[in-house]
Amino acid sequence: MIYLSQRLYLFVLFLFLSLSPCVCEEISGKDHLNDLSSNNELQFNQLREQMKKIQKSELHLHIGGAWPLEYLRGISKPQEFTDLCLMLDKIQKSEVDYHNAFQVFSLISKIMKSDDLIENGVVALCADLLEDNVIYAEFRTGLKDLGSGLEGYLEAVLRGIQRGTEDTPLKVGLILSMRRDTNAFIAEQTIDLALKYRDKGVIGIDLSGDSTQGDGKHVFQALIRAKENNLPITLHIGESKEETAEQQMLELLTIQPKRIGHAVHLCEKGREWIKEKNVLVELCLTSAVMAGMISDAKDHPAIQLLLEGHPVAICTDDPLVFSTSLSQEYAHIAMLTGLLPEEIQELQKPIQNYAFSND
Ligand SMILES: [Zn+2]
Repeated sequence: MIYLSQRLYLFVLFLFLSLSPCVCEEISGKDHLNDLSSNNELQFNQLREQMKKIQKSELHLHIGGAWPLEYLRGISKPQEFTDLCLMLDKIQKSEVDYHNAFQVFSLISKIMKSDDLIENGVVALCADLLEDNVIYAEFRTGLKDLGSGLEGYLEAVLRGIQRGTEDTPLKVGLILSMRRDTNAFIAEQTIDLALKYRDKGVIGIDLSGDSTQGDGKHVFQALIRAKENNLPITLHIGESKEETAEQQMLELLTIQPKRIGHAVHLCEKGREWIKEKNVLVELCLTSAVMAGMISDAKDHPAIQLLLEGHPVAICTDDPLVFSTSLSQEYAHIAMLTGLLPEEIQELQKPIQNYAFSND
């Protein structure tokens, strides 16, 4: 057990809310680093550089929230890019709540409007991850029809992964996402395509989106079919206080997921259940704070789980939206817990057992 000092908590909370550089500083004119002492900034930057040297695995990353900003700048109209930057700016200052934060994805979708742009964006994303010394990643995406049907979109993503990882140390698998309000047709087609492309890069299924929208009626039938066909499943759960304990337990007990994402507002029974079943928690710390799931980074329950030795994977969720990287997330955890980089590396080793590409 590692004990955290109150001073460290306060310092890190301050750092967390202040340090993440705003991607659109030229628009807001604000410099979030102003309030920090140069020593603290230096300490965090040094830690992040140390984390860059560690080979890392990313288990929770939505490509729709991960496109490199420079890639988007190069392909978008000036107004589209400005609108996106203004929204990113608000999120990074925690000025939007959990529900409104999802609006950013429609702004990104307006820019990423063809299969070719998606394919090239995936290539750019792979290059970003390699730069951050990520050697294993699981990308997630919901299927879209951008002119060549859901299958055409899926093939574009897979081509991007093939091109972006060829002759590199990076290995990438693809998880297909559905939302609780996805209709039956899309849900069933998603499972059909996941099974068809299982040996061609698709490795599992994810349930994501605003967790309070939709009752999951159609999606759960599809998820049960995925389970019967041994497709691994991860659930976004415990993102909002509005989720009911009944719904959470119904989802956990029906799907019996191998991993869950966030688990910030998980009911007590749910917390007991994931401990008993050793379900891995995908911890997305910056996302949880910026999307308004919690106001204090130290309040994320997965940090305590990590310190107790429960399987917890440090992840980014949406590195574009939350202006983060996996090395940066590792550095935040180190600052919060006092763990050394090599101790974090050691704690992350078991997550390989939960990689969907092993199933
Ligand atoms: Zn997510």
